[in-house]
Amino acid sequence: MNLHEFQARELFGRYGIPFVAGEVAETPAAVRAIAERLAGPVVVKAQVHSGGRGKAGGVKVARDAADAAAHAARIFSLTIQGLPVRRVLVVPAVDIASECYLGVIIDRAAQRPVVIASAAGGVDIEEVAARTPDRIHRVTVDPRYGLLPHQAMALAFRLYDDLAKVRAAAEIARQLYAAFTGLGASLAEINPLAMTTDGRVVALDAKLVVDDNELPARPDIAALRDSSAEAPSEQRARDAGLSFIQLKGTVGCCVNGAGLAMATMDLVKFYGGEPANFLDIGGSSNPQKVVDALEIITADPAVRAILFNIFGGITRCDDVANGIVEATGRLSLTVPLVIRLTGTNEEAAIEILTRAGFSALTDMDQAVERAVALASR
Ligand code: GDP
Ligand code: MN
Repeated sequence: MNLHEFQARELFGRYGIPFVAGEVAETPAAVRAIAERLAGPVVVKAQVHSGGRGKAGGVKVARDAADAAAHAARIFSLTIQGLPVRRVLVVPAVDIASECYLGVIIDRAAQRPVVIASAAGGVDIEEVAARTPDRIHRVTVDPRYGLLPHQAMALAFRLYDDLAKVRAAAEIARQLYAAFTGLGASLAEINPLAMTTDGRVVALDAKLVVDDNELPARPDIAALRDSSAEAPSEQRARDAGLSFIQLKGTVGCCVNGAGLAMATMDLVKFYGGEPANFLDIGGSSNPQKVVDALEIITADPAVRAILFNIFGGITRCDDVANGIVEATGRLSLTVPLVIRLTGTNEEAAIEILTRAGFSALTDMDQAVERAVALASR
């Protein structure tokens, strides 16, 4: 689950990370009022679930309240990576001497959290990582011990020369690691971690992604979800109890089981196609799930063919077949359907589908190859 910057700031703040306090507004008039109260230059920042807001014009420094309102009006009219700006954060501006990067993610190869730091922080961090990877420093953390003081210091020495600032940055790295584990995050990031012209080290941005599996244990964080800022397809899938991730390809995938769904996506790519989504209808036998899944997949205009890949174990193939017949009767499908089912009640399923005018395959390669061919016509 993605959080907004203003939410991440509040949560990181609980771990002691120093931020300049700001306020959220939904109109230019409200921005003006906040800026007047803060008296002095402010930064107006679009609150959308996307990085790169600065480059998209969504972060602007304003010299006074009138300027802040004018910037806000422009920012509210922006769409950043397809997301409309409904809210902005207004914070007192600081004078920046240098921008560093500090982040914690999971290193899947090492199967451990890794803390990343770079003195070349700011809006160009992706280019720094791509062009000069030697400027990005990493420390792998043993989760049993957490980020150790000497590890935090070693990273902080990559950011600053002055010992007081090294100590401040090391403390923030430890706080960020504590926030990462405490909040059940899959990503916790401060970019930029700024040194101000008067020598303070402060966090100017906060990015937090919480692992969905950690949410049931953290209802207070789960309650922060802003559905209006998420892709409508993912919202609908969550309401329907489906595991769904929107992707950019043309082959809609409807699969039972996360492992088979991953294997299906691999095979789609192997045969030269691109999956339009990850979708796991789960292991239950509920035709309604199939109906919901088809509705969500067909709502994506990029989908050129739909591939069902069902391995009947606990899931009964005849239930899925009934769901397909029911859903296609309700929706007017404009894209071809390729159905592969095998396992529990396979014969009954094929009979149901044949009666309804569909053909069903039992071979996975054959089905995927056909779906890719149909999607690329
Ligand atoms: P992002 O582009 O979505 O990561 O948004 P950020 O919050 O990181 O802001 C982008 C850039 O705006 C930063 O890298 C800074 O260069 C600049 N910026 C943010 N806050 C301030 C501030 O208080 N003062 C100044 N002068 N620049 C700021
Ligand atoms: Mn940033």
